Amino acid sequence: MGKWHDKSAALQADGRAFIGGERVWAKSGQQFENLSPIDGRTLGMVARCDGVDVDIAVAAARAAFEDRRWAGKSPAQRKRVLIRFADLMQQNVEELALLETLDMGKPIKYSQTVDVGGAANCIRWYGEAIDKIYDEIAPTAASSLALITREPVGVVAAIVPWNYPMLMASWKIAPALAAGNSVVLKPSEKSPLTALRLAELALEAGVPPGVFNVLPGFGAEAGAALALHMDVDCIGFTGSTRVGKQIMQMAGQSNLKRAWTELGGKSANIVCADCPDLDAAVEAAIGSIFFNQGESCNAPSRLFVEESIKDRFLEKALAKVPAYQPGDPLDENTVMGAIVDATQLKTVMGYIEAGHAGGARLLAGGKQSRTDSGGYYIEPTLFDQVDSSMVIAREEIFGPVLSVLSFTDVQDAVRQANATPYGLHAAVWTSDLSKAIQTSRALRAGTVHVNQYDGDDITVPFGGYKQSGNGRDKSLHAFDKYTELKTTWIQI
Ligand code: NAD
Repeated sequence: MGKWHDKSAALQADGRAFIGGERVWAKSGQQFENLSPIDGRTLGMVARCDGVDVDIAVAAARAAFEDRRWAGKSPAQRKRVLIRFADLMQQNVEELALLETLDMGKPIKYSQTVDVGGAANCIRWYGEAIDKIYDEIAPTAASSLALITREPVGVVAAIVPWNYPMLMASWKIAPALAAGNSVVLKPSEKSPLTALRLAELALEAGVPPGVFNVLPGFGAEAGAALALHMDVDCIGFTGSTRVGKQIMQMAGQSNLKRAWTELGGKSANIVCADCPDLDAAVEAAIGSIFFNQGESCNAPSRLFVEESIKDRFLEKALAKVPAYQPGDPLDENTVMGAIVDATQLKTVMGYIEAGHAGGARLLAGGKQSRTDSGGYYIEPTLFDQVDSSMVIAREEIFGPVLSVLSFTDVQDAVRQANATPYGLHAAVWTSDLSKAIQTSRALRAGTVHVNQYDGDDITVPFGGYKQSGNGRDKSLHAFDKYTELKTTWIQI
């Protein structure tokens, strides 16, 4: 069975909400069952929070903000607490990774590194940053002194998805907490467990009660109540474009809370005939679409290959695909795990049907696998002869399905790449520096990769153009979302 199976057999997950520094059930007493996509086992019951719980949590967050128990601490004091919080995450890496894998199905080897490691690094980085940022003095006339300062916005609601539950949460809570805000976090109903455990670790690290609250529950209930709340100052949302539009409407309908959205994607990966390293391009194209079971907002789901090299490229790509067959997520050798739930499995299989119906040619995969496990698994799937008008080239699939398209010259590739409502990531592979720069400038995307796809770091902004959202997570720019700019004009 192995170490991770033994550990999961002994695991007791606590599904209660975390409000005002305490674990509590929803006031209504309502709960929902949390099932693991690995094998359908139950992970226990989770508090089904609604508007009443949202009112209580927002009031706790507001009280904590108003009495300055956190906002009033010096940046250096907040830094020390956040670094302790990150240390505690690392000390509990196995428990957090196991919860993440059981809850959303990703391989245990990545839960430990990408998810716990990435989230702890994010918390630490914003903690370290906050006491190194200076405010400004405006160059006004000598008769005045004009200070431009940043203040926390107040109560921040963070609503996050299930694909990287801890990482997406940390991209919001780290800059928000570092800047001195109080936070109410709503994790996805599909993956609530790690967020709840993070709140306990934050308290243990010294984040005062009420400053960081976590409300598990459904989008239409707890999520909408947060988005509509008159006493939430700012909402940091990561999720689908469909729900992102509703979030902005609810912000406008209520108190015009600042609404920051990080939404879906349909990223284009353009491989030109003068690609400097075809093997690296193949590895990146295949590895990046199948990483996290294809459930990544920035997955390069549209692969554009220049016609003259397409056959050679596809031959190499097909040789890589078998390595991504789904396996047991609790086995340390597995690189592709389970799809998050039955609904998502059905959605992805529906897109595979649409690929066939639209006339694309299936080159690999296309079926469910490991069906006797009781969980949800889909083979790594590759469609060739896709054109830009097909459903599988237009819509975000959010599963292990790659669409291969072709182009005649790079202008044609850019035109096709930009013909989407999304604008999250894009890539171009070429040996020609000028072509790389011109293509990068022409691509309407928040990040453009050149001759690689997985380059990433907490120091760079992450977010989209167009309907991929309006905000940027990560980097010092994320502080812009969680702070207000104040001018203080002093007459001398
Ligand atoms: P989703 O939009 O269905 O849900 C996201 C969150 O919103 C969940 O917590 C959900 O409960 C909540 N929600 C749902 N309906 C709501 C409502 N009416 N009011 C308030 N909250 C509501 O998305 P998902 O399926 O959880 O996640 C997948 C999506 O997230 C994909 O589109 C993916 O591209 C996107 N994503 C984007 C980024 C990014 O940085 N741009 C990162 C990760 C995921």
